[in-house]
Amino acid sequence: MPPNILNRLCRLVYPPRCPYCQRVLTCEESWCPSCRELLGGQDGVRSLPGPLLCAYSFVYKGCPRDAVLRYKFYGRKEYAHAFAVRGQESVQRHLPYASFSVVTCVPLSRARRKERGYNQAELYARELAKLLDAPYEELLRKDCENRIQHSLGRDERSRNVQGVYSPQGAIAGRGILLCDDIVTSGATLRECARVLLENGAKQVCCVVIANAN
Ligand SMILES: [Zn+2]
Repeated sequence: MPPNILNRLCRLVYPPRCPYCQRVLTCEESWCPSCRELLGGQDGVRSLPGPLLCAYSFVYKGCPRDAVLRYKFYGRKEYAHAFAVRGQESVQRHLPYASFSVVTCVPLSRARRKERGYNQAELYARELAKLLDAPYEELLRKDCENRIQHSLGRDERSRNVQGVYSPQGAIAGRGILLCDDIVTSGATLRECARVLLENGAKQVCCVVIANAN
């Protein structure tokens, strides 16, 4: 059976649902009109120390928070596309002067990735790269496991991420869009951006699904 027919059949049996409220969607929609109305104004941009700009699509509470949790911990990998559609709008609206030629993400350690089966930031970054018509490349790796950031206080978070990320691939001279799922203190994004800039990146800016600050 041709893959597009199989795909259509699949959509009939398992119709796409809005990641935020779970209503059934049409094939063209990535979220429902009601969520668009309710949540469409939550996007914005944060200035993290560095300075580093970070665009976000949602505030990390209510339905968007539940959607991110299902995406991250309950295998709803298909949400990556819907999040990326919002991410593209956030980048265009809030980072209009960003100049980037490559999209990358905050990496997971090998052990954590194996445990979860996927890196939620990577799936989001890959979908976003397609929409922004830029290549996705892995420019960072995480060599060792540190303590989970959200279990720590603000001061501890900065110390906890220092030195855990290493550069890889072609970084020098490039403008880089760095993606993650959530920004809280910004310590992880700052540390990743520091490694990229120290290795010659021309510019780094960030985009995340939700702002938890
Ligand atoms: Zn909805």
